[in-house]
Amino acid sequence: MATSLTCIICPRGCHLTVDDNLNVSGNFCPRGASYAKQELLDPRRTLTTTVRCKSKLLEVCPVKTNGAIPKGMLLEAMAEVNKLNILPPVHIGDVLIKDLLGTGIDLVATRDIDE
Ligand code: SF4
Repeated sequence: MATSLTCIICPRGCHLTVDDNLNVSGNFCPRGASYAKQELLDPRRTLTTTVRCKSKLLEVCPVKTNGAIPKGMLLEAMAEVNKLNILPPVHIGDVLIKDLLGTGIDLVATRDIDE
């Protein structure tokens, strides 16, 4: 049975169809075929969230993974992220969790908080 999905790699948003043999159609460029296969075989997402922060000004600091992690690990990853309570100063790109859940991907700060 064919699967339909929308390519999210660029704003064109091609409507993709993938058959049982992983043949992709509807893609305007090769990136769409790669995306469709990845999404069906090993879906991944970049985790974007906040962590608690002992700042005078902010209660939370925005963070994200510096790459996509397996979609099925997002809840487990959030449990790890929720254990954090960071102390300023923190700067954009600072690694807050190295090799999150053994994925090889780090959790990094996306905002400067000086105090
Ligand atoms: S298939 Fe290519 S052109 Fe179409 S949305 Fe994906 S990246 Fe963009």
